[in-house]
Amino acid sequence: MGEQKIDVNALTASFPLIEKLQMQQYVFWINEQLNKEKQTISSISMEMIREAEQKLQRFSSYIKEAFPITKFSNGLIESELKEIPNMKKLIEGRRGFAIPGTLMLKCDHALPIAGSIKARGGIYEVLSHAEKLALDAGLISKTDDYAKFTTDNMRAFFNQYKIAVGSTGNLGLSIGMISARLGFQVTVHMSVEAKQWKKDLLRKNGVEVIEHKTDYTEAVRQGRIAAEKDNTCHFIDDENSVDLFLGYAVAGLRLQEQLKQAKVKVDADHPLFVYLPCGVGGGPGGVAYSLKQIYGKDVHIFFGEPMQSPCMLLGMMTGLHDEISVGDIGLTNQTEADGLAVGRPSRFVGTVMESVISGCYTVDDSFLFRSLKGMFETENIFMEPSAHAGVYGPIELMMQGVTYLEKHNLQQKLDSATHIIWSTGGDLVPEELRQQYLQTEI
Ligand SMILES: *Cc1c(COP(=O)(O)O)cnc(C)c1O
Repeated sequence: MGEQKIDVNALTASFPLIEKLQMQQYVFWINEQLNKEKQTISSISMEMIREAEQKLQRFSSYIKEAFPITKFSNGLIESELKEIPNMKKLIEGRRGFAIPGTLMLKCDHALPIAGSIKARGGIYEVLSHAEKLALDAGLISKTDDYAKFTTDNMRAFFNQYKIAVGSTGNLGLSIGMISARLGFQVTVHMSVEAKQWKKDLLRKNGVEVIEHKTDYTEAVRQGRIAAEKDNTCHFIDDENSVDLFLGYAVAGLRLQEQLKQAKVKVDADHPLFVYLPCGVGGGPGGVAYSLKQIYGKDVHIFFGEPMQSPCMLLGMMTGLHDEISVGDIGLTNQTEADGLAVGRPSRFVGTVMESVISGCYTVDDSFLFRSLKGMFETENIFMEPSAHAGVYGPIELMMQGVTYLEKHNLQQKLDSATHIIWSTGGDLVPEELRQQYLQTEI
């Protein structure tokens, strides 16, 4: 991986968008492979996603006890879906054009326990691992009340085992919080982007944090090597884990339920557009996959990435996936969107997405901060910079998406469309840093 030299000139001749990426322009890439093949891959079935949902249901009595903040949702880790009409007006006013249809926000920035979308995948994988260990040891059966997992006995049992993960911050936060609470010995390998407050919060909760001076890909690699030497250690592999993916995918089932409750129609005459911020790909990939299984051709999914870190766009467009990094085309991978500062995408996710997502777009950091301020002032919602990569989606679709809209006969259906911006993080950002973000102008 990444050892061979990439011939950028030859690649640019085949994919002229690379030049626009290098010049820091807004890029909108349409995935021509969409819907060509069947959208289901055999290794991940809807059945597995439903089982993941049931597993989370089994753990709800544990979650409710261990994290009392979830008692309002009966131990389910879920977020609100809501309309953001004031933000819509602000965007339309600033841009001078309309965004036809309804604009909604999926509020994963407010997911309990971890304050980001990582609360879905990360917590699910740790619970899944804990359940397996406890079942194998005969300490629990699937019909028991899982509140049992809070007992000192169980904590002592899990304390014999270790969990490790590499992260730019939020995944570490999510894995660290749940693992420490269950009793595991947990180590988080943080990349250079990781914010100090996330490391402090983890250490305060008894998590070992190892700070790497390298980027995300390297931090994951270091974590993987350290974990391989120890067979009591479970390494959570953000680039390849099916369990993480399944945890994220449960969101699709939950969203379907929320849309029904909100009486939002999704069908051939009522298209659904979903815009997700993308880092290595697991979070948005899991969500996208299950939404595609549920809504098929009626859902149109786009991933947003920072201009300096468009790893999924580059990997999918060239078909090289993890064999190419943004550094190979001269980009720095430096962005204030720390959750998206990933230079090399997941091959596993990128391959699955070939028949699922409609495209990817890039967004610059200055937009993220304007949007952050705008969302706070119009809707009183605070989202971290990374999460605002989703907000640019509907704007980009209106400005550069004409070909896509025409090809899929969507122009005349836009008035009855629903746009969902997936907000991915922000609730745990400390007040001081919030103020700083709100005042940032770049
Ligand atoms: C991790 C993260 C993402 C993207 O998830 P990936 O699985 O890395 O693609 C988006 N937003 C925030 C805030 C994140 O922390």
